[in-house]
Amino acid sequence: MDLQLLEQLTTTPGVAGREHRIRNFIADQTADLFDESFVDELGNLHGILRPKPKPSKSKKKKNTAAPKKIMIAAHMDQIGFMVRHVGDDGFLRLQNIGGFDPRNLFARVVTVHPDLNDPRKDLDGIMNPEGRPIHIATEDEKKKIPDVSEFIVDLGLAPAAVKKKIKIGDMVTLKAPVYQIGNLICSQCLDNRIASYIAIRALRNLKYHACEIHMVFTVQEEVGLRGAGPAVYQVQPDVAISLDTTVCCDLPGVPPKDRCTISGDGVGLNVLDSAAIVDFELLEEFDALAKQKKIKAQRTMLHRGGTDAGPLQRTAAGSRVMTILTPTRYIHTVTEAVHKNDVAAAEKLLIAYLERA
Ligand SMILES: [Zn+2]
Repeated sequence: MDLQLLEQLTTTPGVAGREHRIRNFIADQTADLFDESFVDELGNLHGILRPKPKPSKSKKKKNTAAPKKIMIAAHMDQIGFMVRHVGDDGFLRLQNIGGFDPRNLFARVVTVHPDLNDPRKDLDGIMNPEGRPIHIATEDEKKKIPDVSEFIVDLGLAPAAVKKKIKIGDMVTLKAPVYQIGNLICSQCLDNRIASYIAIRALRNLKYHACEIHMVFTVQEEVGLRGAGPAVYQVQPDVAISLDTTVCCDLPGVPPKDRCTISGDGVGLNVLDSAAIVDFELLEEFDALAKQKKIKAQRTMLHRGGTDAGPLQRTAAGSRVMTILTPTRYIHTVTEAVHKNDVAAAEKLLIAYLERA
């Protein structure tokens, strides 16, 4: 795996609605990859790859039919926070952007990004719930799970300095590096930077393709799948593929029927989630292709939560959709963990499909 690329993707911030830096980073990484690229009104980054058919020696008449248009959507936003209040005491209060379990937010280091274009102005802070530490907490206080609004960020600065540097709406991200732990790669925001990673790697390694590929790094997925609809409206593809992560709780305390996916059992082929039922023929096609190419794949369903496939499927006149997922343990924490073989399988399957489409 290219851990350097993955680390750059996960440590470049881009909370929903503040995707500027991650978009610039991905645009730089893909500058020589696409025949054309642009950013739309919402901030989705589009890259177009014109068909590159295999050179053939036969003098067969050239196929003049319009090429099949395949759209791939990978959301580039991450869950995080914005500053909601700058207190007179110098402590910050946060608004969560996307779904957090507050039990995972105790004793975290965060980074506040007061300037979207200038990482040198970033400030690290300490996040904890307000109130007394365990030594002096009451029994009731010890049992309570605080709401996100009850967390504070300590920048270690005098209140006047905090007031000068920080304003309401500044982006805040959790700080965590990339770890290799056994066969797992562990980091924050692998949802969904692992999909950007898979897409970039697959498109770089793609040799020939008869289809026109429309890659879109979408915005604001984590706050209700907001970016993908307007993006697909512009593209109007024949087939739209959503690349994302999914729940993987193959863990002690979770019965097999509730595990969604198994880490290491291959790329996830989504049958349905609460936003979309994927196109039946596409599901069968991907399943058969994985078998034929001996790529490990597993079917999966998610009864709560969805991906960009929802708006991809039902915007404008609609598109046939498929969802390709990377099983992710401890999803929406700073220790999200994916199996390196599942990442490789997703990359291979995407390449195999695009070379044949
Ligand atoms: Zn996601």
